Amino acid sequence: MVKEVPPIEKTKKAIELPPTITVKRLGDLMKVSALEVIKQLMRNGIMATINQVLDFDTAAVVAADLGFEATMVASPPPVPGKEAPKLPRAAVSGEDLQTRPPVVTIMGHVDHGKTSLLDAIRQTNVTATEAGGITQHIGAYQVDVGGRKVTFLDTPGHEAFTAMRARGAQVTDIAVVVVAADDGVQPQTVEAIDHAKAAGVPIVVAINKIDKAGANPDVVKKQLSDLGVLIEEWGGDVVSVPVSAKKRIGISDLLDNILVVAEVAELKANPRQAAEGTVVEAELDKTRGPMATVLVQNGTLALGNIVAVGDTWGKIKAMFNDKGKRLKEVGPSTPAALLGLNSVPLAGDILTVVASEREARAILERRLAERQSRAVLSKKSVSLDDLFAQVSQGNIKELNIVLKTDVQGSIEPIKNSLERITTEQVRVRVIHTGTGSITESDVLLAMASKGIIIGFNSRAEPGAKRLAETEGVDIRTYDIIYNLLDNVQKALQGMLEPTYREVIEGRGKVIAIFPHAKGKIAGVLVAEGKLSRSAKVRVIRQGQVLADTTIASMRRFKDNVNEVGAGLEAGLVIEGYNDFQTEDIIEAYRKERSN
Ligand code: GDP
Repeated sequence: MVKEVPPIEKTKKAIELPPTITVKRLGDLMKVSALEVIKQLMRNGIMATINQVLDFDTAAVVAADLGFEATMVASPPPVPGKEAPKLPRAAVSGEDLQTRPPVVTIMGHVDHGKTSLLDAIRQTNVTATEAGGITQHIGAYQVDVGGRKVTFLDTPGHEAFTAMRARGAQVTDIAVVVVAADDGVQPQTVEAIDHAKAAGVPIVVAINKIDKAGANPDVVKKQLSDLGVLIEEWGGDVVSVPVSAKKRIGISDLLDNILVVAEVAELKANPRQAAEGTVVEAELDKTRGPMATVLVQNGTLALGNIVAVGDTWGKIKAMFNDKGKRLKEVGPSTPAALLGLNSVPLAGDILTVVASEREARAILERRLAERQSRAVLSKKSVSLDDLFAQVSQGNIKELNIVLKTDVQGSIEPIKNSLERITTEQVRVRVIHTGTGSITESDVLLAMASKGIIIGFNSRAEPGAKRLAETEGVDIRTYDIIYNLLDNVQKALQGMLEPTYREVIEGRGKVIAIFPHAKGKIAGVLVAEGKLSRSAKVRVIRQGQVLADTTIASMRRFKDNVNEVGAGLEAGLVIEGYNDFQTEDIIEAYRKERSN
């Protein structure tokens, strides 16, 4: 079959350019992204920044590459007394903002080569003077790419990334998603992409293992585009770079492309302010005491600074990089291992420089209070039950949902139906889908995105359940699609009935039956838990529930009692039931509002 090919546009479009123009403005005029312009410049051997000013000739070459015929606009005659309009300036003066290196996390499916890629990048960029130096694992490292730096976090994977984000710390600027060219997109590839997207972090795809016989990068690109990650060749703007971590192929190309994406993101920091940073790794070193690797995000950290970090504080005694080199000062986007803290902080803890020990202590107290109030808030912000209230108060404009199903086939119809449930105030957004049980990583994602988790024929793993309970993340599981959609719809309209779950309090066995003025008394031996007067009870015989009612009276010897614990006997009168037999089970339960 012959496919219709759109006619190739032979004639170039005319464009008028001023004598000088910024990269960004040039992109705007041609209706292409600044990324496209930067890449064309790279192909012409020019590493440009987004706000860099190009002369006409350079701009014209780029324009020609992109299908435009440029002519120079005649400069307007100078108006006496009026200055020519100024070009936009990159840095807002006064704030001393400067471009900072990008901080990169590598993610992807297990065995696709994350660790190998991190190693390859580290080793390709060892300069002659450093060669032979012993690299140390401090949790992050920085490489030099033609005079510009890129920082890599050494803990690959989207779990670490999202766990940090769930703690309120976002350090990653760019996610490199590794996909093995011989294995293609796999479940954790999808997770990595969704986690990066949910965080609003741009993605660069590294198609790895291209040295292998079965490598097929085109299949990977197609699979990615099916997932909505549009690779450049497929008309999108996501850069993909073929690499081999093992054979060290394409590494510098990958680094160049990371820098291009960083340019577009316009990452800035002020090195002159008091330093702020985030702990990426921490441990108790046997000989040197508490050691924390901090990524400085703003300002410059210096030896002797007093810092508050998470729940601890200290005075910086020493700092060194991943090559073991001692540092006196550490600027934005630079990782450094610190010594001098009083105890070991946690990954994700925030570091701030303070004036004195007293101020450090005051900050720690304030953080504790904030954390406590945040804990209360976050428990509320992610539940279907009070969604409507949150929406009405304007606290929520989007309901983020992580959707897990038993089979792939259920995902699309449920996702589409969910996303169609939209009210005037709220949009439903499914940020991640997957098959299988609900994992800790799902809970972290819901936490970081202030969302909820919906399982369709999918249950939470024990670890995930515990985490969700402690962090107050709402997990709802359904086995009927109608109920699932109806629940979300009702929640958005404020019509959701609160849901209850049953908690079994105790069980006892009928061991004797006594006559009583109004019927029968069951002599019960409590086998486990407790029976309390206020609980609801069921009478069960051979697995059949014979009555579901309440306790009318409960006595031990002659006394009325409210509670009887395991191993003890009591006489029970059960409301509306008399027909006991020995061996009947009396089960006490309570209904608790879930979430
Ligand atoms: P991770 O689980 O994503 O960190 O993957 P690893 O970096 O541990 O790599 C998994 C396996 O793939 C290891 O046996 C690596 O040697 C191998 N591997 C990684 N990158 C490449 C590559 O570019 N080419 C080939 N042939 N093998 C690779």
